[in-house]
Amino acid sequence: MEGNVQLECVQGDITQQGDLDAVVNAANAELRTGDGVAGAIHRAAGPELEQACRPMAPIKPGEAVISPAFGLPNKKIIHCLGPVYNIDKPSDELLARCFQNALWLADKARLASVGFPAISTGAFGYPLEEAADVTADAVHSVLSDLNHVTLVRMVLFSGNDLQVFRKAFRMT
Ligand code: ADP
Repeated sequence: MEGNVQLECVQGDITQQGDLDAVVNAANAELRTGDGVAGAIHRAAGPELEQACRPMAPIKPGEAVISPAFGLPNKKIIHCLGPVYNIDKPSDELLARCFQNALWLADKARLASVGFPAISTGAFGYPLEEAADVTADAVHSVLSDLNHVTLVRMVLFSGNDLQVFRKAFRMT
């Protein structure tokens, strides 16, 4: 608990977080399906998701947009484009902006709970420890701005990723 917001790090699949109001997609600029998180989210949400996203594309690194969740068990999906490590620069600022913009957007939409994957740490090549530190700082930096969000959950795919994020969030 940090102020009024509960922070969690769990191991799991971002498409299986039925108790959360919103989940965050590690999106591509075109907001299309793809590999990794974007593929899993679009498969679970169904083809309506690409259609709904089309008018909002393209987005830039650090930006976040919100859509309905269709076949996913959440109310909304927040799509963030993470930086490609050391190509989209400054990568740390752009990664931090993803988390900040997503949380501000969720709060504006009066959502109470948001789940994030480890944005940029897959195909976009961000080293895990560095990404975890940037993520923890970014989440902490906006907590005092939040009026509606009361739960932020990091959903890590592997046990190793979970340990690294727990350490960055000082949960160990
Ligand atoms: P990016 O392109 O932003 O790097 P990826 O989707 O390639 O995004 O990967 C981001 C992170 O999400 C990686 O650590 C990857 O292991 C993890 N991941 C992949 N699929 C899932 C899923 N279904 N649920 C949660 N995390 C996932």
